[in-house]
Amino acid sequence: MITTDALLLIVGAGPAGCHAATMAASVGMTSLLIDPGPTPGGTLWQIGHLTNFPGYTDGPSYARVLGMAVGGIDRYCTYLQGTVVRVEPTDEHVRALLADGTSLVGELLIAATGTHPAKAGEASWITCEQDFPTLTSTTPTNLGPRTIVLGADRPLGTWLRAHREADQNLMVCHTAAEAYKVDEVRHDARVQLVQVQHVSVAGDDPFKVRLNLADDTQRVTEADSVVTNLGNVPSSLSGLAVGPDGFCPPGDQHPRILTAGDLTARVGQRVATAVGSGAGASLALQARFRHQAV
Ligand SMILES: Cc1cc2nc3c(=O)[nH]c(=O)nc-3n(C[C@H](O)[C@H](O)[C@H](O)COP(=O)(O)OP(=O)(O)OC[C@H]3O[C@@H](n4cnc5c(N)ncnc54)[C@H](O)[C@@H]3O)c2cc1C
Repeated sequence: MITTDALLLIVGAGPAGCHAATMAASVGMTSLLIDPGPTPGGTLWQIGHLTNFPGYTDGPSYARVLGMAVGGIDRYCTYLQGTVVRVEPTDEHVRALLADGTSLVGELLIAATGTHPAKAGEASWITCEQDFPTLTSTTPTNLGPRTIVLGADRPLGTWLRAHREADQNLMVCHTAAEAYKVDEVRHDARVQLVQVQHVSVAGDDPFKVRLNLADDTQRVTEADSVVTNLGNVPSSLSGLAVGPDGFCPPGDQHPRILTAGDLTARVGQRVATAVGSGAGASLALQARFRHQAV
């Protein structure tokens, strides 16, 4: 176990976590900023074109600025590369357990771990023995002639428009809950929409795929490639209070913990809101436990 001198443990160094750290420093609070990545920025590194955050036209530019900002408060904030697997609050402190077995203790904790693309194994309607790449991480040259897409989330339409040269037959398997998303791709000749109750994928080269269709019949098929397109799910941590949708609202947490950024709710997932909620979380914990007006 390591008991840090840091008052505040911040989990996740996207815009929410970085702004929690810089705001904490501005009111004299020390912090440990923990993230698996080598540098701060989180999802900002994936935003090629940014239109709704004044002063920046792409995410990586802002990620670099945040990296410099965190480096500039090194008297107050230490950046630690690591993955938190569990948080344990008590009346006196909060413990964060890392994947490598390290145990960190601070007085307060902000969780700002954002979201991640859902893996096939995380969807209750998919049975599989392995993980598959996301559709958005692939190009047509990576895919075989018979490709199964698991899930009909919105990036499918974007991918088809971006790859007009793609000549694959994409069998897009989706549940009734996603049926409202398929209108924009319904008339694309490359797409075959299949509404399912359950999909099982086994083997590879080719993949053997068993489909339990919406009309209670079964179909067995083969595919050269399988990719996921299941949308994002919250990167919640064991020990946080989790709502029915998997997100972690700040108001439901232990008094020594606040959540910030995309982790908090499905709606409002933007850079600007993450910035505000991260900074606000530090001030709220400062006011709650240090009894200082901020
Ligand atoms: C492709 C794409 C384009 C986008 N375009 C826009 C746009 O144009 N405009 C806009 O406003 N928003 C956009 N967004 C959304 C925006 O990126 C997010 O709203 C914002 O980054 C959320 O910030 P965050 O700090 O809450 O989470 P993130 O930026 O996701 O950061 C979370 C951090 O937590 C870390 N983490 C996760 N789990 C753990 C753990 N167990 N232990 C330690 N650390 C952990 C992650 O490594 C990550 O660094 C886009 C998102 C994507 C994916």
